[in-house]
Amino acid sequence: MKGLRKIQPYVPGEQPALTGIIKLNTNENAYPPSPLVTKAWQTFDVANLRYYSSLANQSLVDALAQKHHIPSQWVTTSNGSDDILALAFQSFFQSEQPIFFPDLTYGFYPVWCELFHIPYQEVPLEKDFSFALAALPNQLGGVVLANPNAPTGKGKTVTEIEALLQRYPDRVIIVDEAYQSFGGESVIPLVAKYENLYVTRTFSKDASLAGLRVGYGIGSERLTGVIQAVKNSYNPYAVDMIAERLATAATQDTEYYQRINQKICATREQFCQALAQLGFTTIPSQTNFVLTTHPLISAKTFFDKLKEARIFVRYFPDKQRIANYLRITIGTDEEMVQVATVLKNIIEEEQNV
Ligand SMILES: *Cc1c(COP(=O)(O)O)cnc(C)c1O
Repeated sequence: MKGLRKIQPYVPGEQPALTGIIKLNTNENAYPPSPLVTKAWQTFDVANLRYYSSLANQSLVDALAQKHHIPSQWVTTSNGSDDILALAFQSFFQSEQPIFFPDLTYGFYPVWCELFHIPYQEVPLEKDFSFALAALPNQLGGVVLANPNAPTGKGKTVTEIEALLQRYPDRVIIVDEAYQSFGGESVIPLVAKYENLYVTRTFSKDASLAGLRVGYGIGSERLTGVIQAVKNSYNPYAVDMIAERLATAATQDTEYYQRINQKICATREQFCQALAQLGFTTIPSQTNFVLTTHPLISAKTFFDKLKEARIFVRYFPDKQRIANYLRITIGTDEEMVQVATVLKNIIEEEQNV
């Protein structure tokens, strides 16, 4: 047949059947969503589903605007943040010049560039996995920055990003803040000052709602106007009525989420110490996962043996520079103690063969 599209899709971590496993491979939250979400679910009136959801998801947009202390006019909701990111790539990168992002970052960025025919260049991260923004060329089509970055867990400061916004006033800088709540700095306060900044967020990681599929973008009225025109050109009702209701409830429970996400950060610090005692080198993380490597035993060996023990983590054999690293999501204290025990056993076993 002729005319069929050829494309290499993004490959997410696997979603195995959930019973009897420890799932630390896709950076989901270790804890359940807020009790307010459960209540919103229980009191949802199914009869309302015969109507379309509100076009602007106004209740959710207003709750988000209140949470971030910004006008509602700057907020656009989406079906997961993958959706708002895909919209942003299509909306803001129509130039001939390549856009720039790191060689080690969210695997979806190059996929969208291919899908939407956007020229791009991947910038090799430094030895310590930092992104040398000052080394970017003077001419470019835009920059995409996961902050903190995945899978490295390293973040940039607001000051560094502000310098970037000033350097390219007529290019859009997208900042993907999927992991901000776990120790990163947010640039949302800069949206008031920089028309060229677009920030994306998700309910998947810090709000414990990956299965609900809700994300959003925050940007100037000018950028929001463009993104909403593109959104309304193919799927205006991307966030359904149930998702809107539950995400709104989650947005209203800042206290609960602060508590569980602080807990995850504390667990992360303990787990990093356990890793250090086992001889691992771990990149200091500002996210709910760590990237770690062992000097004697390969990531593949750990990956396979952890899987035998029903513990799912991630590694990236195709990414040469981190092929020997494991990316491990931070679960509960109990889960991480168990992971450390299994890692210790693997090391002992391997050293005895
Ligand atoms: C998880 C993740 C996302 C998207 O998640 P959604 O579930 O689509 O909201 C976006 N960017 C990064 C860096 C992520 O890790």
